[in-house]
Amino acid sequence: MAAMVAEKTHCAELLDGRMAADAIKQEVAAEVAALKRERGVVPRLAAVIVGDDPASAVYVRNKIRACAEVGIASDHLPMPAATTTAELLAVVNKLNQDDDVDGILVQLPLPEQIAEIEIIEAIDTAKDVDAFHPMNVGLLALGRPRFVPCTPAGIIELLDRNQIPIEGANACVIGRSQIVGKPVASLLLQRHATVTICHSRTHDLPAVTRQADILIAAIGRPAFVTGEFIKPGAAVIDVGVNKINDADKAREFFGSDAEPRIEAIEKKGYTLIGDVHPAEADRVAGKRTPVPGGVGLLTVAMLMRNTLQAAKWRRGL
Ligand code: NAP
Repeated sequence: MAAMVAEKTHCAELLDGRMAADAIKQEVAAEVAALKRERGVVPRLAAVIVGDDPASAVYVRNKIRACAEVGIASDHLPMPAATTTAELLAVVNKLNQDDDVDGILVQLPLPEQIAEIEIIEAIDTAKDVDAFHPMNVGLLALGRPRFVPCTPAGIIELLDRNQIPIEGANACVIGRSQIVGKPVASLLLQRHATVTICHSRTHDLPAVTRQADILIAAIGRPAFVTGEFIKPGAAVIDVGVNKINDADKAREFFGSDAEPRIEAIEKKGYTLIGDVHPAEADRVAGKRTPVPGGVGLLTVAMLMRNTLQAAKWRRGL
């Protein structure tokens, strides 16, 4: 009976992305102010966005806003949806040559007529604050990272700032993308976790993920990770950002927290949910990140840190 009551009332502790992100941004702001005071240098980020994808527009707006918060100068460079590879390459080359620009961000995904890899490879590796250039990917894989991609770096920060031990832990990453799954697995391995990477061909996925003390979901499927995927007490990091517009699903996924989500669906037509089923994770996990309010905020904070790093390294500081 006591066990039943405990099971019913168990609720995973929420890992607050905002608190960690604000702390990182304050640290960056202090360093930016010192750089300006002592060297007269103001770091500068150029953010290029092609087309009018609403999600990309929100991401870029948040990044520009964060720059203003920490004292980093920024250029918002929107380009039409019909932009060609050559036109975008010309912009990237101009930014490479502009000595005032420290960080170049080309918001992905790009429209399909643009050869994404050509653009990524054209960015000056010293200004590659997203860390997607093969040179920076290679350095990370070698365990000698220069820039670390923002979302994976943010995940490690979140674990560290919440005193979640990585060394020796069983860590499982669902997803093997270049921007999240592979680099976060690499970082966890460098921090001496025992790392398993799962993907769409993994056999009996829940049996594998249930071994994990740290479970990272970067899949892109709403509420895919249910209770049976989670080891009791595990730390669950939800990278996914998905939209749902069905109030019944919201009720099922969010349980007692569903009301504001249903209101959002009525008002905006959708609510955001991660790859983890929040109500079920609350029942089993020890800790979990919320969506929104988790990993996404860290991603932006780490972009600020990478831009500051770029400004310092480019001047030999
Ligand atoms: P992606 O490139 O679409 O890759 C998805 C991965 O999930 C693939 O490796 C795929 O396996 C795996 N997968 C798909 N279905 C699966 C299944 N049924 N079982 C097991 N694995 C499965 O994803 P991504 O770019 O890493 O993004 C993942 C999610 O994170 C998205 O929702 C995205 O919006 C979000 N995201 C958030 C942030 C943030 O800052 N919060 C940043 C980046 C991405 P295969 O390789 O076998 O196909």
